[in-house]
Amino acid sequence: MSAALPALEGGTPVRDGAPVPFFQAALSEADIAAVTAVLRGGWLTLGPVTAEFESACAAWLGTPHAVALSSCTAALFLALRAAEIGPGHEVIVPALTFPATVHVIRHVGAEPVLADIELDSFGLDPGEVEALLGPRTRALMPVDYAGHPSRLTELLEICRRRGIVCVEDAAHAFGAAHDGQRIGTVSDITAFSFYATKCITTGEGGLLACRDADFAQRVRLLGYHGMQRDAWKRYTDQGSWYYEIELPGYKCNMTDVQAALGLSQLQRAEALRDARARVASMYTEAFATERDLLLPVTRSGALHAWHLYVVRLRTEGLRVGRDHFAGALRAEGIVPSVHFIPYHQQPAGRSLELRRPLPRTEQFAAQCLSLPLYPSMSDSDVADVVEAVRKLLRYYAR
Ligand SMILES: *Cc1c(COP(=O)(O)O)cnc(C)c1O
Repeated sequence: MSAALPALEGGTPVRDGAPVPFFQAALSEADIAAVTAVLRGGWLTLGPVTAEFESACAAWLGTPHAVALSSCTAALFLALRAAEIGPGHEVIVPALTFPATVHVIRHVGAEPVLADIELDSFGLDPGEVEALLGPRTRALMPVDYAGHPSRLTELLEICRRRGIVCVEDAAHAFGAAHDGQRIGTVSDITAFSFYATKCITTGEGGLLACRDADFAQRVRLLGYHGMQRDAWKRYTDQGSWYYEIELPGYKCNMTDVQAALGLSQLQRAEALRDARARVASMYTEAFATERDLLLPVTRSGALHAWHLYVVRLRTEGLRVGRDHFAGALRAEGIVPSVHFIPYHQQPAGRSLELRRPLPRTEQFAAQCLSLPLYPSMSDSDVADVVEAVRKLLRYYAR
């Protein structure tokens, strides 16, 4: 029997109703009630609920200090500012990341040095880092790609040896762990994202976790106009009109409306991860024998947060490339995505001079395809994704 004709080539789509979305937020009635309660309380911005969310996150992660912020981008930016990284300094960052990781380095006036990935966690390659270290290197910014911890043992050893800081971009990795230690307690400084599609959400939001009390205090000051902690109380009946500005800060605080959603989501963080992990293991089982798909693997000692399920197409075995395949999947009624277009291939990144070639990043970026993954995915949604991917692999096989 010849392979079924893809919808993109005039055949019948696997899915005839609504497509399987790439992502769907897992909002519960309790989440909605928590937000509504804050709205009815009348205090909308930074306040006691944000403080409660910070304590709850710190306890959940096992980190001494947690600062809730407007985004992960803000957390990464403030981390570099608080670490006094700026003009004349270099920061090593993987090219395979969301642009924000690179942009914050540019925003503080430092130079991003783009590094290649290793092919087991798809994170920063410690060997490449060694080759890129120089007298001006002040920080490493590993990215826990898809929710899999980076090679943190080796990367932190490099930081210790060189006396430089590690600012970990754990936007994908809330709930992940490295050798039994939760992400957020492994590096000096870790930034998480609570953007709508991330592991848990506050709509928009971020968190900086760190060990050092003074560092946390500096991030708070910098992130709230340079005002002392609790300055938000100046508009309450317990506050005073007096305020003091210690430095020219930024405006990066979280609000109580966001924090209420975060507190409610935090209670389900484990259950949401388990629901994503279940879908991931269904994919892994279903695709185990596909010659032209390379599947994500979890390194021993790692606990994967499963923010994304990213496969690589073995394009040597196929008559089409990733872009065509992604379009064909969309036509079958399955919405895929791509994580990421490497920074140096973006118009904004072309002016950055590459110190070393990035062959693994470039090959990965040409082959990667992110499949739908979200906690409420039904077995029949997963089955449709599997059927559509298989159909296309058969039809486009060489
Ligand atoms: C989403 C994301 C960010 C930015 O998170 P925001 O909370 O939207 O600022 C940073 N890095 C990576 C790898 C991301 O995926």
